[in-house]
Amino acid sequence: MPLKEACGVVGIYSPEQVSYDLFTALRVLQHRGQESAGISVFDGTIKTYKDMGLVTEVFREKTLEKLKGNIGIGHVRYSTEGASVQRNAQPIETSTTIGKLALGHNGELVNAGTLREKYKEKGWGFFSNTDSEIIIRILAKELHEGRKPVSAIKSTMREISGSYSLVLLINNRLFGIRDPLGIKPLAIGKKGDKYIIASESVVFDALDAEMLRDVRPGEIVEIGENGMRSYSIPTPEHPAHCFFEWVYFARSDSVIDSVLSYDVRKKIGNILAKEHPVDADLVVPVPDSGRSYAIGYCEASGIGYGEGLIKNRYVERTFIMPKQIMREYNVSVKLNPIKSMVRGKRIVLVDDSIVRGTTMRKIVSILRKAGAKEVHVRIGCPKIIAPCYFGIDMKTRAQLIASDKSVEEIKESIGADSLGYVSIEGLVDAIGKDRKDLCLGCITGEYPIKVEGEKLRGQEVLDRYID
Ligand code: SF4
Repeated sequence: MPLKEACGVVGIYSPEQVSYDLFTALRVLQHRGQESAGISVFDGTIKTYKDMGLVTEVFREKTLEKLKGNIGIGHVRYSTEGASVQRNAQPIETSTTIGKLALGHNGELVNAGTLREKYKEKGWGFFSNTDSEIIIRILAKELHEGRKPVSAIKSTMREISGSYSLVLLINNRLFGIRDPLGIKPLAIGKKGDKYIIASESVVFDALDAEMLRDVRPGEIVEIGENGMRSYSIPTPEHPAHCFFEWVYFARSDSVIDSVLSYDVRKKIGNILAKEHPVDADLVVPVPDSGRSYAIGYCEASGIGYGEGLIKNRYVERTFIMPKQIMREYNVSVKLNPIKSMVRGKRIVLVDDSIVRGTTMRKIVSILRKAGAKEVHVRIGCPKIIAPCYFGIDMKTRAQLIASDKSVEEIKESIGADSLGYVSIEGLVDAIGKDRKDLCLGCITGEYPIKVEGEKLRGQEVLDRYID
């Protein structure tokens, strides 16, 4: 519940002006990043407008009207690498000898530090501290050296390592690019002659378009007048789709790599009921994150469902709280119990994950104060024991309550009567993919890409690709 998503990206090619569609798409992707929003369009040259704030705060009708052009990209950002300041907002633009580029990036490079040092030694200055600037600058160099766009993109992909789903404009050419492991989601949709590339399929629903397919790991998709063209670089035998997208980041109604998030969450709820049964009177979800899991838990356990906690819909953003007392009240402002529903009951409280444990502790205490007799916590994501190096806001083991605590100790810490996490096997079963095709780094401590000081999962080293 307390984690922040990384970013959302969208690119649209249309016979009509695209700024309004991009605006709608970014609103749909708002859950992936609430710090800044931006749009770049090609209108003879690339024009970009971006600022800090929610999509509806950044864009007014006047601004959208001025962003003419029938090809463009958009981005919403939450900073995981690089500070939350305007100069780090995206899309990021640069000029080259062949024209302008604009890039929107979701993900994180594991070799950003090395690349930054390498190019600083060559005399480059960087104007932001984002990984995205590294990508666009290397790409610009490749183009400057005379490579054609697709070859320059391939060459850039061979130099960068990590997670990246990109939308890119090279003048009036639109590209969608996914890293060779397909860690972050990216999909393609179509409505008539309009093509859309987006982080999540819900964008296609909002724009009344059909989902065509996911961008494949290591694929470069180009959209233009003549439709869609596909290129690719060699990829390892197994992808490493981030399992967290299905259980936490993506909206429940998003289809990611052919799997609907809602189905995964409900099935995990079924599995949780079998793996961690308990005698109880009522299953209560933490709204909204625990709802699909709770429905699944009810289905398999036969225990009744109750919306015992009500969410205040108008406190979506956690602002900086200057005083401790205000921070303390934060969860109670967001969630309020229906006392008559929980009083005297044995509650199964269901949520998607526990990261630091602080929010769950407060929710358990809210239910107890409301008179719950027992509170049994069930969690739809296995214990998060290790950091994420691929763009999620879990950077150190110290942030993670499960990194050095047993289930029993966590149960004590959050004040629950019992605590059950879904097993890794149960999670993989619910997603329905081969375990080898998933990144499970933060729950196993074994990563699909070499990270200094961490274990590599049992597959080929993903250092470089040979074209
Ligand atoms: S480490 Fe965890 S959060 Fe990060 S990409 Fe892998 S599965 Fe996703």
